[in-house]
Amino acid sequence: MIILDTSEESLRKAGAALASGLLVALPTETVYGLGADAFNPLAVAKVFEAKARPSFDPLIVHIARMEDLSRVAASVPPLAERLALALWPGPLTIILPKRPEVPDIVTSGLDTVAVRFPSHPVARRIIELSGTAVAAPSANPFGYISPTKAEHVARTLGGKIDFLVDGGPCAVGVESTVIDATKEIPELLRPGGMPLERIREIVGEIAVPPRFHGSESGPMASPGQLSSHYAPRSALRLFEFSSLCDAGIFPPQGRGAALVFDGERAAKLELSGRFDAVFALSEKGEMTEAAAALFALLHNLDFLEFDWIYAEKVPDEGLGRAIKDRLFRASRK
Ligand code: AMP
Ligand code: MG
Repeated sequence: MIILDTSEESLRKAGAALASGLLVALPTETVYGLGADAFNPLAVAKVFEAKARPSFDPLIVHIARMEDLSRVAASVPPLAERLALALWPGPLTIILPKRPEVPDIVTSGLDTVAVRFPSHPVARRIIELSGTAVAAPSANPFGYISPTKAEHVARTLGGKIDFLVDGGPCAVGVESTVIDATKEIPELLRPGGMPLERIREIVGEIAVPPRFHGSESGPMASPGQLSSHYAPRSALRLFEFSSLCDAGIFPPQGRGAALVFDGERAAKLELSGRFDAVFALSEKGEMTEAAAALFALLHNLDFLEFDWIYAEKVPDEGLGRAIKDRLFRASRK
């Protein structure tokens, strides 16, 4: 694997590599993606192989110009167009009817395609220079914690990809929000970096499946929405903060860490002396900062090899929905 910086010359190399069927890991505002030419089924097959991703889990196709939407989507319903015009480029993926040119391997044989126009200038430039659309899932082994820094990608996929463009840490830090716009009432398929509240402002009603209601998340029904995901090797469990403060939940043995929302809570738990380490998602208790820090913290916790991690359930609002969903799925083994 060759690591590239973000100079124009390097981005040209990355774009050319994609165009010639190679795999390029690249920074986006959400997480690092593992990109391949979306119109090249062999290149896309290598993405599935590198990640050990099951073939029934479709990929998101990334574009860098609004005009390119018509290269992958057969049609764009008015509501999807409103979303795209208002919220792209950004951390929003829209499911649309697919054009026949998009290979089945990208969409797992579905007649729809997931499309995103990322805002990260490096991702945009690489996609532009590739001259194609780029199919890119997160650049991590299937089921493991998503990468928000180049070193996360190097550590877990280093031997399996051709290039890694190091663009520093990802600003949003959780994957895109996925909205199915082929339905009469658009449906939330995955909470993510674009807050649901913001999407509602544009399109009004959105169907939110029961698994995303309140604290109870059921099994994920849409393709790829597998329950166990983003999982560190240590056992992770989710609790309300009040339960974390309760001595009754203390597990019998091993080294344990707590992961809570803000610095004040972390200080309170530290005082209890019941955890070997306590981490705050955001010292100041800011949701955007918490989202950006989430996966890097999980990577660190994994590196430190705790036997168990107890994490706090964050509130169901804004990016909190995405954080809670990721922690919930990290807790399913
Ligand atoms: P990843 O790129 O690994 O973050 O995952 C992409 C997500 O988008 C997965 O959860 C997929 O199930 C979802 N997705 C991709 N294409 C489609 C599609 N055509 N219909 C529904 N969901 C999709
Ligand atoms: Mg992923």
